[in-house]
Amino acid sequence: MSSVSLREVRKKFGTVTAINGVSVEIADGEFVVLVGPSGCGKSTLLRIIAGLEDITSGEVVIGNKIVNDIKPKERDIAMVFQSYALYPHMSVAKNMSFSLSLSRTAKSVIDQKVNHAASILGLEDLLERFPKQLSGGQRQRVAMGRAIVRDPKAFLFDEPLSNLDAKLRVQMRTEIKELHQRLKTTTIYVTHDQIEAMTMADKIVVMRNGLVEQMGTPLDLYDKPDNTFVASFIGSPSMNFVTGVVRGGKKTTLVTADREELPLSQSAAAHNGREVIYGVRPQHLTPDRNGIKVKVVVIEPTGAETQIHAKLGTQSLVADFRDRVDVKPGDTIQLAPEVSSVHLFDKDTGKRLNA
Ligand code: ATP
Repeated sequence: MSSVSLREVRKKFGTVTAINGVSVEIADGEFVVLVGPSGCGKSTLLRIIAGLEDITSGEVVIGNKIVNDIKPKERDIAMVFQSYALYPHMSVAKNMSFSLSLSRTAKSVIDQKVNHAASILGLEDLLERFPKQLSGGQRQRVAMGRAIVRDPKAFLFDEPLSNLDAKLRVQMRTEIKELHQRLKTTTIYVTHDQIEAMTMADKIVVMRNGLVEQMGTPLDLYDKPDNTFVASFIGSPSMNFVTGVVRGGKKTTLVTADREELPLSQSAAAHNGREVIYGVRPQHLTPDRNGIKVKVVVIEPTGAETQIHAKLGTQSLVADFRDRVDVKPGDTIQLAPEVSSVHLFDKDTGKRLNA
């Protein structure tokens, strides 16, 4: 096991800057998730750590060693790909043991490592099968087994669950997390799925356009997003944003262009007269007879929750209720934002303001 540090890493592909100065410290044994929209540079960063891409400038450090010039094979890192990349003509046992036999490990040691990994992953009865005789989830487990037998300094996962159906994805998510709790191997995991990031990570790194927007624990990012990008990326359904002007006074409120008023905490009076973005999560809007009036547009029941899409004047809002509600499109309902959970952002920069 090992720590991994990226220091001011830059990567250009011709004129395209894929990574634009990224510094991240990953502690020994930590589970870090790189998350962000398509093209933000997540996979490139992972491939840089694995040594599959050279960097244009900066330093990659594994343990105490700068590895910029060290070949992938010698970095002692195991990567699990989205496509699993299993050898089709080899059995499960052979797929798992192949890298060890290349490094001339003794057969007795190989057998012991393969059996151990198979027992961790529940693959004992499948060792003689070939990849085409396995389900997607089983193939994914073999790909992980292949990584485990190498006992590497770190595991790198590149969107490993995106080929699985929704139910299996949730199951494998738990399995990978449990595996990490048992093995405590440093893990760097790439996904564009914020739920995967929230549920698995010790630390999330949110990326956009080759830069880190914010990093922190999942709940740090959820409770205190640094800007509107992180606020809208983390949390489901996405945070609501309403633009308006702060009006201080006996009661501090946000006044929208349609003259709608939303409550703010007294401390937000410090921004009196400022044009801001008011952020409130769908879960922090509750039905209340004294609340703001909104017009219901669409109702989406999911069984456990009901999501209501509504209009506040010309601006859109989503509310997420745990209880079932008896409303229909066109109804006017009243919602109260939980004032202590409201976020304020600068209108022009999108940066967080203290509310
Ligand atoms: P996705 O979620 O879609 O896989 P990503 O966040 O992993 O996206 P990367 O694959 O790291 O993004 O790509 C980052 C940027 O670098 C993109 O603009 C991409 O087009 C560019 N890029 C990646 N690899 C190459 C390459 N070999 N040559 C040129 N440009 C590349």
